[in-house]
Amino acid sequence: PLSARGLTVSFGRTEALRGVDLDVEAGEVLAVMGPSGSGKSTLLHALAGVIVPDSGTVSLGDTVISDLPEPARAQLRLREFGFVFQFGQLLPDLTALDNVTLPLLLTGHSRRRARRQAASWLERLGVADTRDQVPSEVSGGQAQRIAIARALVTGPRVVFADEPTGSLDSLAAESVMTTLTDLARDTGATIVVVTHDPRTAAHADREVVVRDGRIGGRTGGGARGEAGGEAGCPAGDDADR
Ligand code: ATP
Ligand code: MG
Repeated sequence: PLSARGLTVSFGRTEALRGVDLDVEAGEVLAVMGPSGSGKSTLLHALAGVIVPDSGTVSLGDTVISDLPEPARAQLRLREFGFVFQFGQLLPDLTALDNVTLPLLLTGHSRRRARRQAASWLERLGVADTRDQVPSEVSGGQAQRIAIARALVTGPRVVFADEPTGSLDSLAAESVMTTLTDLARDTGATIVVVTHDPRTAAHADREVVVRDGRIGGRTGGGARGEAGGEAGCPAGDDADR
């Protein structure tokens, strides 16, 4: 349901994105790979409406996110998107339960219902026993599970994850990714996951590679995917004609 057309983003003289076209299907798990500094996080932020592209558009279904004023984008992020980062970015002074309850309170749920729903998500993620602990008292893997509960609790259409397993050992990384992708499949959420780790990317349906601000995509599953916009790329052979 998410599509980008001709996205460009610059920071001063740095052209972080140089014309990105991308379509992510409903329910798809897409891995975004590529070298450090290639523009992966910038792409994620642009897709999520956290930053506005200099040119090009991002749409969620019929809504052109990149045209919305910030208050409307913030509302849309809160209601339609979930976010998971490398270091959970849980609020340090709130318990696990309160961290997961917060997005529900912000979207207008009653305190009682919000707490009940948050508790059930902690349970689904296998971290029910952390509910009264603050983030500094839980392990890295537990923190990521709490962060995933927080990202999924509002029933988002799209979950954006930037190096969600980057701070974990490979065992914890594997189990966090399995949980994330299983839950997304259960709930029908689309996932866009930025990662350096091929084992994390292996959980995706498809993978694209960002190089130098462009998608140079090799696609995981074969024929479907980036054919349209980037069809010029593989034609390197023809360059000297
Ligand atoms: P990494 O794998 O290291 O996280 P990345 O692929 O996510 O890298 P980005 O963070 O998207 O890369 O950065 C792309 C380019 O844009 C880099 O040259 C970076 O220095 C620059 N950049 C990103 N954010 C900003 C910012 N807020 N201000 C200035 N330059 C930025
Ligand atoms: Mg990054």
